[in-house]
Amino acid sequence: MKYKIIRSKRRTVALQVNSDATLTVRIPYGISMEYVERFIADKRSWIEKKQEKFRTLGIKHKPKQFSEGEEFIFAGKPYPLEVVPGIAARISLSPDGKLRITKKCLEAPKHYIEWFYKQYAKKHLTNRLAELARTFGYKCNSVKINSAKTRWGSCSAKGNINFSWKLVILPSEMIDYVIVHELVHLEIKDHSTRFYARMSELMPDHRQREKWLKENSAMTKILIAR
Ligand SMILES: [Zn+2]
Repeated sequence: MKYKIIRSKRRTVALQVNSDATLTVRIPYGISMEYVERFIADKRSWIEKKQEKFRTLGIKHKPKQFSEGEEFIFAGKPYPLEVVPGIAARISLSPDGKLRITKKCLEAPKHYIEWFYKQYAKKHLTNRLAELARTFGYKCNSVKINSAKTRWGSCSAKGNINFSWKLVILPSEMIDYVIVHELVHLEIKDHSTRFYARMSELMPDHRQREKWLKENSAMTKILIAR
């Protein structure tokens, strides 16, 4: 098994399977390689399971070819691409669950589909935020959709919430998690115990959702093309 070693001032050995399925091993200074090898051997099935998961995700999220039938995800649901005749650029989600684009869009598919994702995100996330805010009794000044690469959402000191349009490719329970997280920030700015206590109150399984998001974010962000 191949891996990368990082030595540092730490006490224990830690394994990390990265989203490109490589393995990083963090070890304390002065530890024998024999010990490290044995440690890895003991954890072999765990490592391989994780690597397999990331490989599968990697295939699912490889750069798009924009070919007929290729799947694009909206709110966690796959929509196969359907190309219909048309000299004007038109794009929509069809009632029968397809991402329908006209032939014209193929001149710059990434541009058109990204534009459509942003429109979809604006509508979908604004509506869902309004619903959840009503349910939990929060009031938000404004919602903006941006193209942030590293953050799904953020909340400003003035009470404005921002979301990355890429959020809409996550499963709906993850979208809800990010929205509720930002709503709670309207009330509690930091990630204090008070913040997590409120999260637990509103969304008892928020820890599991956060964990899923941490493990899957890197892969899900490769959305349309690298
Ligand atoms: Zn936060």
